[in-house]
Order: sequence, then structure tokens, then C-alpha cells
Amino acid sequence: MILTTHAVVGATTYGLLQDNPVLASAAAFSSHYVLDYFPHWEYETDPRKTKDKKIIIVLKILIDLAIAFTLVSILAFYVFPTSPKNFAMVLTGAFFGLLPDGFQLLYMLRFRHKTISWTQRVHDFFHSEDESLKRSVRAMVTQVVIVLVCIAIIYMI
Ligand SMILES: [Zn+2]
Repeated sequence: MILTTHAVVGATTYGLLQDNPVLASAAAFSSHYVLDYFPHWEYETDPRKTKDKKIIIVLKILIDLAIAFTLVSILAFYVFPTSPKNFAMVLTGAFFGLLPDGFQLLYMLRFRHKTISWTQRVHDFFHSEDESLKRSVRAMVTQVVIVLVCIAIIYMI
């Protein structure tokens, strides 16, 4: 699943449970695995499975991350212009929603510390093996709908 979706869902999950920051962080972190569990659209990041050069893969990830950060920041500024607490809430939730892919990036960059290897096994365990929707426009639209629903929920928090 793309980083933008993980960031927005993480922010929303955190926002819904913000009265308990530890639970909210754990839930935002866990939301990543729930989203990855279902078959989904995503761009290929495994150099063994694509003809793209590594620099192109890195550029795709950076563009996705830039969109995620921009969207979450706009959301935080627009929805919570006068509330630093809620602004921090949105950014913290997005951070925890993205964190499992951050661990995966470290693993792909050959950081093989025990903790990183363990998080990669957990990520692989939960990540859908079904690639039938990987290039599906319908599955891409599903992520747009998920993001829009989350934005509406954040707006109502
Ligand atoms: Zn992931």
C-alpha cells in the first residue's frame, strides 16, 4: 500500500484514540499491518521484481513520502490551525502509520539488526501475497476513498 494512505490512516487512528497516547501510537502502528493485510494497489519497490533502476524506485518512494507529508501537513494546518496539540496528534499518528515501512526500508538498505529483521518478518507475515490488485485502478480508487473517509473523520474529531 502507498505511504500516503498509511500516513492518513495512522493520523486518523491516532486521532480517534488520542486520550491514550500509548494506545493511540500502538493502534496507528498496527493500522499499517491491517491495511497491508488486504490485497491492494501499490508500486513495486523490490528491485528483483521490476525493470526500474534503483534510483527510479527511490524517486517513487520519495514522491509518495512528499505527497504523504504534504497532505498530512495541509490536513493538520487546515483542520487544526490553532491547536498545536491536535497538529502534533496528526503528525504523530502519520509517523506511527508509516513506521513499519521505515523499518522495511532499513532492511532493504541491508540494516540487518535483529530488531529490523524481526520487523521485516512481521511485515512479510501480514503483507498480502495476492498481487491480483497490485496494478488495479479499482484498488487505487479504493485507497483514494480510504484517504477521503479518513480526512472526513479527522475533520469531525
Ligand atoms: Zn507496508
